[in-house]
Amino acid sequence: MTTVHEPTASSTATATATSAGLSVWPASTTEPRHGDLAVGGVSLAELADRFGTPVYVLDEAEVRDRCRTYRDAFPDAEVLYAAKAFLCRAMAHWVDEEGLGLDVCSAGELELAVTTGFPPERITLHGNAKSPHDLDTALRLGVGRIVIDSPSEIARLAAAVGPGGHQKVMVRVVPGISAGGHEKIRTGTDDQKFGLSITDGYAQHAIARILDQPQLELTGLHCHLGSQITSVKPYLAAVRRVVGLMARLHEQHGLLLPELDLGGGHGIAYRPGEPALDLTSLARKVRAELADACATSGLPVPRLIIEPGRAIVGPAGVALYHVLSVKHTGSHTYVAVDGGMSDNPRPALYGVRYVPRLIGRHSSAAPALVTVVGRHCEAGDILAADIELPADVRPGDVLAVPVAGAYHLSMASGYNLVGRPPVAAVRDGIARLLVRRESLEDIRSRDVGL
Ligand SMILES: *Cc1c(COP(=O)(O)O)cnc(C)c1O
Repeated sequence: MTTVHEPTASSTATATATSAGLSVWPASTTEPRHGDLAVGGVSLAELADRFGTPVYVLDEAEVRDRCRTYRDAFPDAEVLYAAKAFLCRAMAHWVDEEGLGLDVCSAGELELAVTTGFPPERITLHGNAKSPHDLDTALRLGVGRIVIDSPSEIARLAAAVGPGGHQKVMVRVVPGISAGGHEKIRTGTDDQKFGLSITDGYAQHAIARILDQPQLELTGLHCHLGSQITSVKPYLAAVRRVVGLMARLHEQHGLLLPELDLGGGHGIAYRPGEPALDLTSLARKVRAELADACATSGLPVPRLIIEPGRAIVGPAGVALYHVLSVKHTGSHTYVAVDGGMSDNPRPALYGVRYVPRLIGRHSSAAPALVTVVGRHCEAGDILAADIELPADVRPGDVLAVPVAGAYHLSMASGYNLVGRPPVAAVRDGIARLLVRRESLEDIRSRDVGL
């Protein structure tokens, strides 16, 4: 399971992402010099030097390739990138150029995308509690679809659209299926805050009310089971459940819904050997299940929509840190880096662990078991527990953390006022800054009282 063993001398010049330990790194990853890695043709050690640390590196080709993999696996479906995983203007452009739509959860995500040129009609607005500002922004910018998530939204939205207006909407239903990598990211069960339950009839009730609003056009049902799902099965169960509801709606209201949105949640490996969701299998089996369920119910097959976030951007990102201190306690060696839970809250939120790797120098020291921690004032600020790093790891070393593209910076905080890290894109041997580091001046400029 560990990745930290240096490859043998003969393999160093040509080692690629397929070599042992690099399976979770971007496909462009190479080892140009013994002890260094390059992503997108750019040395990670040079990136740490040029931009300082912590810094997040995004492999543009990896993002684009992953968008294309989805388009190829789901040629008849609409693929929306879930912007909450990571969004900046460049990311919006890449996703647009690769032909994907966008799924957003706030006026902020929506406005950033549209003001950088993303076509609003290819954007879907989600949210379990949309503010009046969210809805006003969506209507002002002409968002494609709004996914209704609570009964109170229906009248509010209908009023905001106005009697002469028109807005496409979907309804987020809860199929009553438990799936996902952690309790905090399971959203398909009945007892959580998202969506309207099929079991309890809330979904059916909301749909009847939407049908009474002529300015709202119901195009289909939406369900999102959760995140870090590595098995196809829950998606197939969701298809059955949602098509079952579609059949009842057809009987009761004569309704034929043209779209079915299965959400995202496709799991990826954060460490070598961990499972990932097989997209080809997902596509094939979902298509077959949908065709079969619709045939049984005598319904036309709706157009499928999927919303991957993590699986598009997660594996394309690498975080770089400098080691600040190495501390030996009775039983542990703690290697502390210059970032942590303020740029990556996932370990503290979900208890996940990463496999950082020493880069920038070759060490012939034997591997030692260490725990890599962040610099923040919380004992849960732990990036990696009991992983192998060379025993001579020391302050000044650079550690690289793969699979850092999703739900790191988008969840970053201002904790301890260290400032959020910059994002640099790499492509064809060239690095460029996408988002600059947050400075003390940025922080101070918001602090307007005394
Ligand atoms: C978060 C979310 C997604 C994306 O989830 P991933 O695990 O990043 O694929 C898709 N749809 C909805 C509604 C979401 O809330």
